[in-house]
Amino acid sequence: MTTQLFGPDRKRVGYEDQEWAVWVFGPDDVHQKTTLAEALELAAELNAMFAELHLRDSGKYSPVMYAVVLHWGYAWNSAVEHSFGLNCGHPDCPPCSPKVAS
Ligand SMILES: [Zn+2]
Repeated sequence: MTTQLFGPDRKRVGYEDQEWAVWVFGPDDVHQKTTLAEALELAAELNAMFAELHLRDSGKYSPVMYAVVLHWGYAWNSAVEHSFGLNCGHPDCPPCSPKVAS
């Protein structure tokens, strides 16, 4: 079973009313976060931990798991958000920054 997380055929894996969250492939856990920075931090930490667990037992007992940042329920990637004409939500992205007057 594969899940299309990024790109034009992406599937929503989280909740559409949560701006930022971290989703874990495998247990299908969703952890809500308040900012992109917090979500990225948790995802990075979880991915390092999952890789470590997998290496420790050569993948014999630990299932493959990984974490991705979700924006409104979809796997976050600014290029994909832009391709849909959406605000990517990154505070350092000039076109999406709320300070830019339209
Ligand atoms: Zn942007």
